[in-house]
Amino acid sequence: LRHLPARNLLAQERRQLETDLRLAIERGEFELHYQPLFDLEQNCICSFEALIRWNHPTRGMIQPGEFVPVAEDTGLIVPIGAWAVREACARAATWPQNIRVAVNVSAVQFHRGALHETILAALAASGLEPSRLEVEITESVFLEGGETTLKLLHSLRSLGVRVALDDFGTGYSSLSYLQSFPFDKLKIDRSFIQNLLTREGASAIVRAITELAHALNIETTAEGVEETAQLMELRAHGCSSVQGYLFAEPMSVADVHRLFGEQKG
Ligand code: C2E
Ligand code: CA
Ligand code: CA
Repeated sequence: LRHLPARNLLAQERRQLETDLRLAIERGEFELHYQPLFDLEQNCICSFEALIRWNHPTRGMIQPGEFVPVAEDTGLIVPIGAWAVREACARAATWPQNIRVAVNVSAVQFHRGALHETILAALAASGLEPSRLEVEITESVFLEGGETTLKLLHSLRSLGVRVALDDFGTGYSSLSYLQSFPFDKLKIDRSFIQNLLTREGASAIVRAITELAHALNIETTAEGVEETAQLMELRAHGCSSVQGYLFAEPMSVADVHRLFGEQKG
């Protein structure tokens, strides 16, 4: 009983967050930041991952870790996620032709969000070449839906959209999913990269993942690269691309455009 007040407060905060989230959609308080992915084979930025932020009227900028789980629980991630797909496609359509955009899609959107229609409409409205859009899913989409899940993945693929498996290596049976769908990319979870130089096992795991991916003709991205020594190790392992603070943090639309300007000049 001693914990009750705290729990009430928590429940109250959550309800407030939910109310605010609903308003946020109407008020257009979300924005996407973009983090570059650096291609180690072509030696250039090949793609940006769109990461959502919430510009809250009183609390300031809120990171997705604080509101995406609530949005998922309440189903609000469906309209919010649809907005993110539309926004990312519209933005990427203004970028150089060789640059892709990756959008995160959570399991709730996947199963209850009419995702195929949302993506089709976003591509049509923006005129973005479908192959320039990559959808990032996690293994959690496979926990539900069975055949329907695979059907949806194949339907996205038949549009020409690329599919990446995010946070790879953290789930329960990653390898079996590789057999069931031809992913375009595996994103090696940050936890392995963090331990790359300090834990003997991590390096072996990263090497095994890149070798496996190579054999299956799947690209790999190392997530959360923060140090040059990690980068060198990843290069040696044959990782196709890297993403992390070593290169750039997620940046505003204006900063992305500045980056393109610098590259040209
Ligand atoms: P994620 O898809 O695994 O995204 C990578 C996260 O790692 C991002 O956090 C990014 O800012 C952070 N990161 C990148 N490089 C580094 C690094 O070198 N070091 C460290 N420590 N972190 C790094 P962020 O932006 O807070 O996003 C958190 C999660 O929220 C994402 O994880 C994704 O699951 C979810 N999310 C973000 N945007 C969306 C969205 O539009 N829709 C949905 N459904 N989920 C989203
Ligand atoms: Ca991601
Ligand atoms: Ca990830």
